[in-house]
Amino acid sequence: ALSQTAFKRVLLKISGEALMGDQGYGLHPPTVERIAREVKSVHDMGVEICMVIGGGNIFRGLQGSAQGMERTTADYMGMLATVMNALAMQAALEGLGVYTRVISAIPMDQVCEPYIRRRAVRHLEKKRVCIFAAGTGNPYFTTDTAATLRASEMACEAIFKGTKVDGVYDSDPMVNSDAVRFDRISYDDVLTKNLKVMDASAIALARDNNLPIIVFSLDEPGGFKGILAGEGTYTRVAG
Ligand code: UDP
Repeated sequence: ALSQTAFKRVLLKISGEALMGDQGYGLHPPTVERIAREVKSVHDMGVEICMVIGGGNIFRGLQGSAQGMERTTADYMGMLATVMNALAMQAALEGLGVYTRVISAIPMDQVCEPYIRRRAVRHLEKKRVCIFAAGTGNPYFTTDTAATLRASEMACEAIFKGTKVDGVYDSDPMVNSDAVRFDRISYDDVLTKNLKVMDASAIALARDNNLPIIVFSLDEPGGFKGILAGEGTYTRVAG
């Protein structure tokens, strides 16, 4: 049964930490499976899905460089961490019967496909979930920027950024109970108010390509599907 949705192709961005559950590190298989079910429910609506998963649950470049490692080396380790997360998500989705491809910005042919834009588009047309791994393939970037880049290249209608809270607030709602959620906010306001939506280069790239960012709660069961069907609370970052 196809539910109504205005969206044909979207990109879901989640942080690596979203996969670690209550643990302080790494992958928590039941959590990975829970998110995979959220993705499947949207896939079942007929929506074409791209995914970008961060690597912060395993390794962050800044963390490594703070410990004295060269920043570029540490960033490559962070990118490799995203490949592990992508493979875990692939396994969970395929366990649910959803066909997927892991597509890496850094070629590693024995592990996954290299990124070839036209091939990725074809996978989407064939309703395969494309999990884009290894970020942009460049140090000094983040997976938020990778998400914006791939969403632009794949002509996604929006980026869905799944977080712990149901949108963008004027202050941290986990700390401040008076925090107010924005229904919509402009890219420029996100940048000038320095709101923690995505890093500044990702926001600027989304702005330049007119790509809306929809920030929603990944902890809300059925939340991803609900928002695609026009329900629930979220913040829309747009022009
Ligand atoms: N990274 C990078 N280039 C990219 C994407 C990621 O160098 O294009 C590295 C960077 O070190 C980053 C790590 O990979 O800290 C993990 O990605 P990110 O911090 O974006 O993960 P998240 O916070 O979303 O879990």
